[in-house]
Amino acid sequence: MTKAGSRWRCAVCGAQVVVTRVTETALACCDHPMEPGTAGGPAGPAVAGGLQLGKRYRCPACEGEVLVTRAGAGPLRCHDPMVLQAPKPLATSD
Ligand SMILES: [Zn+2]
Ligand SMILES: [Zn+2]
Repeated sequence: MTKAGSRWRCAVCGAQVVVTRVTETALACCDHPMEPGTAGGPAGPAVAGGLQLGKRYRCPACEGEVLVTRAGAGPLRCHDPMVLQAPKPLATSD
């Protein structure tokens, strides 16, 4: 599991995340286990369809959630591929 507030990085694509809600299993990115901490590694390239800076991703199985602090290729994985959380839409009426 990961603790809320812990930081993880992907050694493959350079993505970095901070856990905003506890996950029940270790995180993976690019099919590799993520490493604790934020040190080192090149800046992640901006990849179309990849992990987006400042976005939240959630595991549909355990509802663990992370915030991306450095963009990367992804995909992030917990039990299942983590799902981009769309910002709550402003109330609009059609
Ligand atoms: Zn990665
Ligand atoms: Zn999970």
